[in-house]
Amino acid sequence: MEFMRLALAEAMAAGERGEVPAGAVLVGAEGKILAQAGNACISLRDPTAHAEVLVLREAGLKMGNYRLAGTSLYATLEPCPMCLMAMVHARIERLVYGAREAKTGAVGSLIDLPGVAGLNHQIRIEGGLLAEECQALIQDFFKEKRRRGTEEVVTGTTRNRLVRC
Ligand code: ZN
Repeated sequence: MEFMRLALAEAMAAGERGEVPAGAVLVGAEGKILAQAGNACISLRDPTAHAEVLVLREAGLKMGNYRLAGTSLYATLEPCPMCLMAMVHARIERLVYGAREAKTGAVGSLIDLPGVAGLNHQIRIEGGLLAEECQALIQDFFKEKRRRGTEEVVTGTTRNRLVRC
């Protein structure tokens, strides 16, 4: 629970920066936090800078190894296919996510990647931890975006920012 609270705080901070409010925390086998991050696609101008990818990157550097066996990743939202495959490549042991992500989720929403036969690494997955809070954060964020969108003329790069990254 405390790790998901931390991921939520990262998500909130990301939302305040104008990023999609999603956060992640990676925890080592001994229960030590290896990395924590919020989405940063806009600030880093990087479409792959989802919170989950950022914590895997940071932990990889810290551990000197892209394989992160025995780790647990806490994410406020059901990860997208890119992030889920990154977790498979990193060989993380466990994924705990908060709210379902109907449009992009790779754990049964958009696609069920863990259920794909032949995947070379199985991650233990638990969903629904603090789901309501995780969901509320993202709903409020998009509600606010829509409200602002109707007040301003939205063009070009601004419009791109209204799309989930
Ligand atoms: Zn992702």
